[in-house]
Amino acid sequence: MTNRDLTPRVITLGTAGGPRWWGSGQPIRRSGIATAIQVGDAFYLVDCGHGVGRRINEAGLSLGNLRGVFLTHLHSDHTIDLASLAVFGLYEMLERTGSPVVLMGPGDRGMLPPVSPRAAVPPRPVAPEHPTPGTARMFDTLMAAHATDLNDRIIDSLRPSPLDLFAARDIEIPEGVGYHPNDAPTPRMAPFEIYRDELVTVTATLVEHPPIAPAFGFRFETAGGSVTISGDTAPTPNMIELARDTDLLLHEAIDFDFVESIYAHRTDDGSRASRDHHYKSHTSVRDAARIAARAGARQLALHHLVPGTADDDVWRAAADEFDGLFHLPDDLDVIPLRDEDALVGSPPLRRRA
Ligand SMILES: [Zn+2]
Ligand SMILES: [Zn+2]
Repeated sequence: MTNRDLTPRVITLGTAGGPRWWGSGQPIRRSGIATAIQVGDAFYLVDCGHGVGRRINEAGLSLGNLRGVFLTHLHSDHTIDLASLAVFGLYEMLERTGSPVVLMGPGDRGMLPPVSPRAAVPPRPVAPEHPTPGTARMFDTLMAAHATDLNDRIIDSLRPSPLDLFAARDIEIPEGVGYHPNDAPTPRMAPFEIYRDELVTVTATLVEHPPIAPAFGFRFETAGGSVTISGDTAPTPNMIELARDTDLLLHEAIDFDFVESIYAHRTDDGSRASRDHHYKSHTSVRDAARIAARAGARQLALHHLVPGTADDDVWRAAADEFDGLFHLPDDLDVIPLRDEDALVGSPPLRRRA
């Protein structure tokens, strides 16, 4: 069946941030960060947090229609189910024809971040021969780690190789913007195009999420509106420029009261370093709303919620600072890029236990 309705929409596959499962002894309400942008039959994926394959299935999306995977940055909460998407996904992509799925994300960091001033002795890095792989090497390495399984399937069962189904490449930062992973991870810059097909044009900008670098926000422009996805970032003018007059901004948010409840009473260096990271690399609920307002976004949805177990009231504070349409999506909610399309679009997929 072909979907001739090209009204673009976002499906919030996973809405929690952070390298956690956010379990509390109950069924987990928010799975890891992942967002689908659907235009007609085609869809695009931004980030591959925990549970992304399950959520794609629950949303009724078919991997045969997946055109591109875009990774904002290489923190594990955004990449942890990339391997399962490619390995399990192979069985849902048998009928797929045409070009491979584009997989784009940050390139090699190029150097390790500076050692925390709180370190008593310099920690030993993982994989010192390639300690900061980019997207293309990461994907190759993930598939290599599954070689025993994949080669059985490829050689004995004549299944396709994920290396043929996905085309991984690193996003190249334009020359001359003054980017440096440690000294200038977020220079002021104009958004630049990273992908285009007949349905979408994707632009990116550098956002502020030290020490990880590069870290990107993405904007998808379609004939029926635009959606901008912040990735993980502290407030930065680059984000406001990327989101200028966008129809829908999905912005990350963290509850700093939660951060204080975890770390305020801890005095060990690891806890202090973790607390520092949250303040310099993430955005409060109210700041996310102010950014949306300054950018002139017509709709704001908060996602990448940390913690993934907070009461809704924590996030609804954003509505005080934003005059446009505010959404607090659950996993599997559907948000049309233009709110007038909400009346004519498909009914929400909202599905609550
Ligand atoms: Zn994250
Ligand atoms: Zn991150």
